[in-house]
Amino acid sequence: MSIRDTYIISPHQSVNLDDFDPDYSDPSVTKKDAQKQLEANRDRMLELGYLLFAENKHALLIILQAMDAGGKDSTVRRVLTGLNPDGCRVTSFKVPSEEELDHDFLWRIHREVPRRGEIGVFNRSHYEDVLIARVRKLVPESVWSKRYEQINMFEQILAENNVAILKFFLNISKEEQKQRFQARLEMPEKHWKVRPEDFEERKHWDKYMRAYEDVLSTCSTEWAPWFVIPANKKWYRNVIVSEIIIETLESLNMQFPPPPCDISKVTIT
Ligand code: ATP
Ligand code: MG
Repeated sequence: MSIRDTYIISPHQSVNLDDFDPDYSDPSVTKKDAQKQLEANRDRMLELGYLLFAENKHALLIILQAMDAGGKDSTVRRVLTGLNPDGCRVTSFKVPSEEELDHDFLWRIHREVPRRGEIGVFNRSHYEDVLIARVRKLVPESVWSKRYEQINMFEQILAENNVAILKFFLNISKEEQKQRFQARLEMPEKHWKVRPEDFEERKHWDKYMRAYEDVLSTCSTEWAPWFVIPANKKWYRNVIVSEIIIETLESLNMQFPPPPCDISKVTIT
């Protein structure tokens, strides 16, 4: 079975996060093996990113969602470094501005979707509109409950227009989050990361888990699958995410476009 198939959520699968161990790693893979594999995968991703750019037919959209301290930023840094910065763009979605709130919730998202040839990474995404918006009651249920279907339709439009979509839920445990917050408090160079709001969100952990379960059960589709990545071990998370990106890019069967002229007849004077 491919790595992709191991971590994918099938369409209509009913997800209970208690069944997913955030601490899991394949017992046959050591940390050292995984780090070596990640290096090789980065090289392969660079080649595939170049081909994606040259062919100019598909885009790849990678969506990262996690609880605070779940490792979104470090996944970007560790897995996606090495990609040609010309062809890869990361967008972080924060609390919406007044202007953004005056539009439909997908307005700010659609504008950042990668163009053909490009890889786009969303650090948080439109899923916040059915996660924090639901848990913190930012909009009534009558509004957020319709969004799952709206999101599926939106993503279908993107997929039908050659945007390959991968959605990763970086699954850490509540205990792991506590340890990572603790580390931030203990290390002066991490103090800039401390946000009192994060400790506030943590109090709603169980509600977030229910909200994530609904996202995973409702919005994993053939055209835009969700993957639940065991994320307590950063080295395992990184190698699995990189493998899934590679498998996906390889499945696009990309080709370099033919040269625009007969190369054998070109003379350089
Ligand atoms: P970091 O790892 O740097 O903490 P972050 O993604 O947590 O990254 P923050 O600036 O700490 O960034 O927090 C962004 C906040 O914006 C999060 O609490 C998130 O839930 C919130 N947010 C994002 N999108 C929305 C939205 N559509 N509605 C309400 N809140 C949102
Ligand atoms: Mg944060």
